[in-house]
Amino acid sequence: MESMGDAMRVMLRKIEDWRTKTPSTTQQAAQTFGCVKCKDTGTINTFRWVEDEDYTYKGQPVKHQVAHVENCSCHFEKQLEKYNAAAGFSDKEREHTFKNAVIDDENRPNFEIAVDFIKAIDKHQQWGTWLYIYGDSVRAQNLADKTGKEISAYGTGKTYLMQCIANALTNRKLPAIYVNEEKLFGDIKSTYNRDSDESEQDVLRRYYTIPILLIDDLFSTQYTEWAEGKLFSILDARVNDKKITIITSNYATGRIEKRLPVNGGKIASRIMGQAQLVEMIGTDRRRTIQRMRKDETA
Ligand SMILES: [Zn+2]
Repeated sequence: MESMGDAMRVMLRKIEDWRTKTPSTTQQAAQTFGCVKCKDTGTINTFRWVEDEDYTYKGQPVKHQVAHVENCSCHFEKQLEKYNAAAGFSDKEREHTFKNAVIDDENRPNFEIAVDFIKAIDKHQQWGTWLYIYGDSVRAQNLADKTGKEISAYGTGKTYLMQCIANALTNRKLPAIYVNEEKLFGDIKSTYNRDSDESEQDVLRRYYTIPILLIDDLFSTQYTEWAEGKLFSILDARVNDKKITIITSNYATGRIEKRLPVNGGKIASRIMGQAQLVEMIGTDRRRTIQRMRKDETA
């Protein structure tokens, strides 16, 4: 059992931290603003004179002022500093771009969808469009049996395509978070540690509200009821708030329910309602490259 003394010491340390970090009023007054446009509030209030049906006098519209709040440009710069989709990428992954990609007849339609998505990103931000990039081994096997061709759900470039999208977002200075499930659930769990600076709500809010969330290899971890619940709450909030979500996965929407017995059906229906589906099955590029290397050395 924790002793009372321990809890007290932690609390005293927190109070001391808070006291030393909070500037006195004279310090505050002397401080200059990082952004003079918004005085570091992140928003700008403007008033416009308008004439409309809201105010009329003897049937005639009367001019009146309307307040308009918009985000300051520094708000987006600060967000991008914190939320850069390519931040965790290796040098090699940063080179995964639409320009560098090797395009062939098989992957061309998928790249076209992604490039068009980025071109129309402003509209998609308004609509909250999702992209669901998937390759399902059951569907690949069925198609292979039918056609007699080698068709794979793996090594088809799903992650590569999503990294191209992430790099394009960073290039356009659009705030986004790129995660896999391990990172996503790890972020939430780390708040259960009593020394955590953030609460679970802080972390969830970040995943609810980030303008663009990219999740690589969804439905790949061992799911507990807890994880299913958290995942559903994030995806559901993002549908309701119209936030772009881009997902790669090895599950066709029809098979998600089997994978996640508690919330799979609801999650699949959110994806089907909101996402443009991008199916990537076909040649296993990783295997092809290996084979080519073998041929070269033979
Ligand atoms: Zn500003």
